[in-house]
Amino acid sequence: MGGACVVVREAREMSTEDGPEVHRFRLTAREWLRRNMTRSEQAEDGKYRQRTQPRSDESRVAHARQLQARLYDAGYAGLTYPAEYGGAGLSLDHERAFFEEATAYDMPTHVFAVSLNILGKTLLEFGSSEQKRRHLPRMLRGEEIWLQLLSEPTGGSDLAGLVSSASRDGDTYILNGQKTWSTGAEFADFAMCPARTRWDVPKHSGISMFIIDLRLPGIEIRPIKQINGESDFCEDFLTDVMVPADCMIGEENDGWTVVRGLLEIEHEWVGRTGGVYTPRSDVDDLVALLKRRGLEADDGARRQVAAILVLQSVQRALAIRVGQGIADGDLVPAYGGLLKLGNDELRQRRSETALILAGSSGIAWEPGAFGQECTAVYLQARSASIAGGTAEIQRNNVSERALALPREPAVDRDRPFSEVPRN
Ligand SMILES: Cc1cc2nc3c(=O)[nH]c(=O)nc-3n(C[C@H](O)[C@H](O)[C@H](O)COP(=O)(O)OP(=O)(O)OC[C@H]3O[C@@H](n4cnc5c(N)ncnc54)[C@H](O)[C@@H]3O)c2cc1C
Repeated sequence: MGGACVVVREAREMSTEDGPEVHRFRLTAREWLRRNMTRSEQAEDGKYRQRTQPRSDESRVAHARQLQARLYDAGYAGLTYPAEYGGAGLSLDHERAFFEEATAYDMPTHVFAVSLNILGKTLLEFGSSEQKRRHLPRMLRGEEIWLQLLSEPTGGSDLAGLVSSASRDGDTYILNGQKTWSTGAEFADFAMCPARTRWDVPKHSGISMFIIDLRLPGIEIRPIKQINGESDFCEDFLTDVMVPADCMIGEENDGWTVVRGLLEIEHEWVGRTGGVYTPRSDVDDLVALLKRRGLEADDGARRQVAAILVLQSVQRALAIRVGQGIADGDLVPAYGGLLKLGNDELRQRRSETALILAGSSGIAWEPGAFGQECTAVYLQARSASIAGGTAEIQRNNVSERALALPREPAVDRDRPFSEVPRN
């Protein structure tokens, strides 16, 4: 299996399409990382492992804020953000090179991924100059963690059917309602939160998007206990929350444009970078697992690992091409859904393969036991095809928006939302 390791390493080197400038940047970043960041445990021991500590732990969040500030001071936070908001104004290729170099290090990625890759980018596209100046540099410095308050208990797929309300009162809006599945809400500072400002128009036309300071009175955040014992998400109760009118993103009742844009940014990013939850273990870790189980000569096991290498290489090539195509305006943003579908499939197949390779050890449940990481990563990966919009909804998006096929039938699309029957 030593040969397989070499193949994996070579495939990775060959797939690095740096031009001379990006290559120079990569070398500088590599040296900076070596001097300033700590190598992660996974990189040290190379075993199949994603994480053994909960993401949402107060001390880890504080540590992540420090690391983010260190990246900012060195010019490595917000690589693709414009310089006027504290970014480095570089290309997607620079960002890819930096992520590749940073894989082996302890990075604040988990904590800041949604803020910087989804919500900051959404603010950049749809926010006012004042909103961008107020928040983006603070996000990049690690002073503001943001999250999405999109899903509601009545359903996440039909996001335009949301029933949280916002009514204008002088220079504030008063928000009421319930949100759910908000990742990392317990430790976040701000949220993007759509709410209904008109009920007498069709559902997509009566939504407005707000920036909410999560310390405002009337917000109650309750962690949800998950199957793996962690509490990555929360449910959120909004009772007469007074939000200043200048915290609206875009125009009143045009919030669906912002929601749509946010989702497209999320899908493209998840698909391109592998997303916040992608196991840090890659094919090398599967090879290490295979060796640990003494399966080097087992044809079936070798084939399984090779199949993941192929899938991973295809996803990477697709991600570079589609990511650049969207950035250049050659592809409509809905192609991001295609990337996300591929990424979700890869994550699930890779975690299934690890579980198979781990054999009976893969059902271990005690923290620290061999195989426990495989179980944890497998369970986490099941959520990939739900988070950020389910696989079914992605397929609809791709068929309708990227391929321009007919829209799925909907009885409520043109009716005033107040006349649409609801529970
Ligand atoms: C790991 C993770 C992180 C998340 N983080 C956040 C977060 O930070 N903020 C947030 O707001 N939400 C978050 N969510 C919630 C997520 O966005 C929703 O779970 C998702 O959009 C699906 O909504 P739902 O769970 O209400 O399922 P439903 O919408 O009730 O769907 C149930 C099932 O019906 C199917 N279905 C629904 N409509 C259609 C249709 N038209 N055609 C075909 N099939 C359909 C769906 O595919 C699904 O299988 C997160 C979810 C996960 C798993």
